[in-house]
Amino acid sequence: MMDIGRLSLSELSGKALAGEISAEEAARWFLTRAHEQQQINAFIKLDDEGALARARTLDSIDTEARASMRLFGVPIAIKDNICVAGETTTCGSRILQHFVSPYNATVVEKLISAGAVILGKTNLDEFAMGSSTETSFFGITRNPHDLDRSPGGSSGGSTAAVAAGCAPCALGTDTGGSIRQPASFCGVVGLKPTYGRVSRYGLVAFAPSFDQIGPITRNVRDAALMLEVIAGHDPRDSTSVNRPVPEFSKLLDGDLSGLKVGVIKEHVEGGLTPLVAKTVQDAMLALERLGVEIIPVSLPHLNYAVAVYYILGTGETSSNLLRYDGVRYGHRASSYSDLVDMYRKTRREGFGQEVKRRIILGTFVLSTGYYEAYYLKAQRVRTLIIQDLRTAFERVDMLMGPTSPQEAFKIGEKIEDPLTMYLSDIFTIPANLAGLPAISIPYNSEGNALPVGVQLIARSFDEAGMLRVARALESDNSQTGKE
Ligand code: GLN
Repeated sequence: MMDIGRLSLSELSGKALAGEISAEEAARWFLTRAHEQQQINAFIKLDDEGALARARTLDSIDTEARASMRLFGVPIAIKDNICVAGETTTCGSRILQHFVSPYNATVVEKLISAGAVILGKTNLDEFAMGSSTETSFFGITRNPHDLDRSPGGSSGGSTAAVAAGCAPCALGTDTGGSIRQPASFCGVVGLKPTYGRVSRYGLVAFAPSFDQIGPITRNVRDAALMLEVIAGHDPRDSTSVNRPVPEFSKLLDGDLSGLKVGVIKEHVEGGLTPLVAKTVQDAMLALERLGVEIIPVSLPHLNYAVAVYYILGTGETSSNLLRYDGVRYGHRASSYSDLVDMYRKTRREGFGQEVKRRIILGTFVLSTGYYEAYYLKAQRVRTLIIQDLRTAFERVDMLMGPTSPQEAFKIGEKIEDPLTMYLSDIFTIPANLAGLPAISIPYNSEGNALPVGVQLIARSFDEAGMLRVARALESDNSQTGKE
């Protein structure tokens, strides 16, 4: 029997298009697997009925109409901060527990027109604020490689679902690293597109000057194909950029010789676990073998990236989350004395601890008397970081380094210590501050028990170049037989 779980996305859709497997069979295969893997808690909601009905509809479409659908019959899992019409979008929060989306996010619409089948909604840190998928109202998600460990976060439900074979691909969101860090922890590919490449219409805002939606897949080729489908200009998102979307999946091959890849000194000089340090070293040697010139670069302002992100990010959060006041949608406290009391009780009951912490921090940095000292100053330092990166890209074509300072940590290890948790994003945040595309791909050094990812960061809108290097590294890694 054909092992549906091992097919790439293009193989899967190819076979479904040709009628060798039915969309229904494919959906059933992954749904069964997802039910068997309940202990991981990757999904907030599995939509068996909806997925199978949709798959049957696809199976009845005639050959001609199918032909243009690039993900025909491909099952997909969607992070639960992205709207799917008629389904709950909880953001992992009590406050949105019963909120039903009235419309589809643009990315969801694009996936549906490409023939994808939505399996369900995946777990996340509450409102995507976190690095461990431990703060969801719907419970923690576990790492399929070791159930005592975190899958990373905040897209931990999506990366765990793909790693455990419950879905061949998923959507995640990345504000400070939430696609790449969990991809690294779970041993899958996670790509954050350039700011503006993919529409955020229908994504619940967290920190909109950083938020991006992106693909989570088992390999680079699949990530390229998914990006091709979800990218493109959308007049409904004013930050979406009007430029052509290359056929990324057809641009993956090619010689890397002569390419210049920078390694950020501040990112490899210490603070890495031995396994991560060795992995990055190995990946660097592999790139050299492929003809790439490795160039050390120093980006001094990057030391402030985490601080800048948590000032600007919380500022944006505090104003965005004002809309959850119990008036128009979401949870409302059941008893209160007046309007202000209703606001207070609703928010106290509806939000978890980490979200409250960020609202308080954000309100503080935006308040009169502190705004100049914190928010404005952080904006200025953000510009310095952007300039640092711009200067680096005058000398190199791409940057490479660790995705995260460590492999997957234990559940419970960091949750009581927010500062340590915030430092998990030290290597991923710079790409968000500067809006640059970045990818994490699993890279196996000899004998590692847990997966480790390496990160590539590219120039704005050079996802094609980035995917090409990622693909070369991936194929070199599998050929050297270290898996
Ligand atoms: N872990 C980071 C944070 O807590 C990033 C989250 C994200 O990218 N959504 O803000």
